[in-house]
Amino acid sequence: MKIRQIIARLFGRKAQPAAEPEEVAYFRCRDRDNNPLADRSFPGFDHWRKQPNGDRTCSFCGSLHEDDFLEIIDAYARGEPGYSFDPTTKGYKRYAHRPGVQNASQGGIKFYGWHADQTPGPRWDRHKEIHGRAMARYRAEMQEAFGPKKGE
Ligand SMILES: [Zn+2]
Repeated sequence: MKIRQIIARLFGRKAQPAAEPEEVAYFRCRDRDNNPLADRSFPGFDHWRKQPNGDRTCSFCGSLHEDDFLEIIDAYARGEPGYSFDPTTKGYKRYAHRPGVQNASQGGIKFYGWHADQTPGPRWDRHKEIHGRAMARYRAEMQEAFGPKKGE
C-alpha cells in the first residue's frame, strides 16, 4: 500500500493532496551550443518555467514554448486586440506577447528559433502557416504606419 493511501485511510479525504505535482520535462536548450561556457556555468538540464500568466519559458534562454508562441501569434494574426508580434532584424528571434504582459517577469515576450520543432510534418507545416499569417499582418501594419517599403 502506498503511503498516500495509508494516510488517506487514517485521515480521510483531507489528507490527500489536491493534485498530482506536474511532471517536469527536462531537455537541453540548443542555445547552450552558442556559448562554450554555458554547460560549465549552468550545469544540468533545462525545463519549461511557468510564468505568472501561464506562459512557459525556457529556463536557459527565456524563449517562449513553441505552442505558447504559436497561440500568441495566431491571435495576433487574427487581429485580436492586445497581442503583439515583432519579427526583429534577427532571423532566429521574434518578440511576441499577450495582452497585459509588459515584461518577462509577467509572461513570455520572445521566441527563439531553436525551440521550433522543424521536423518535417503537420506540426512544422502548422508553425509555418501561422507564422506566415503573423508576418503578413505585421507587414500590413508597417505599411500602414510608414508607407510602402522602398522598391515596392
Ligand atoms: Zn532555450
